[in-house]
Amino acid sequence: MLPPARPRKLAKVPFVELADGRLQGVVSSGSDIGRVYVSSVAVGTYAFSCSTNNNRPCGGARGMFCNHIQALITESVLQYGAVRVARYLRVEVAGEELDAQAIAWGMSGTHPAQADSAAAAQVFSRFLRHLAYLELAPTTAPLPEMQWFPASRAVP
Ligand SMILES: [Zn+2]
Repeated sequence: MLPPARPRKLAKVPFVELADGRLQGVVSSGSDIGRVYVSSVAVGTYAFSCSTNNNRPCGGARGMFCNHIQALITESVLQYGAVRVARYLRVEVAGEELDAQAIAWGMSGTHPAQADSAAAAQVFSRFLRHLAYLELAPTTAPLPEMQWFPASRAVP
């Protein structure tokens, strides 16, 4: 695994990746500690989807990117760097500073369609496998990804 370009807040977005032709990941709910959103944006078309881990559609992702997708874009830029994210998604950003906001605007300006949520289950199972990998990896270093779980938040 590559170290992130900049430190990320893993409690908010415990999982983000550029894979399967999508920017995809898991975003924790701001209000409910037991709920996460599975969000994705497709390369090139920017077709987006957002639903909970229980497969309920996100109320904010109707006709535009919701806060979860915005958070996913922001965290992907911290993880991979803006140039890599823009190149992967094929976003053209002309004459502006290339950052997460410019990437989000570059995509939403094309009025992308909403994708069906079939990808969500796939993304969520990748997240669970990612966690399993972290648990199995022989290391004594702290695992920042595990901060997402309330139980491990109590540990100083
Ligand atoms: Zn959402």
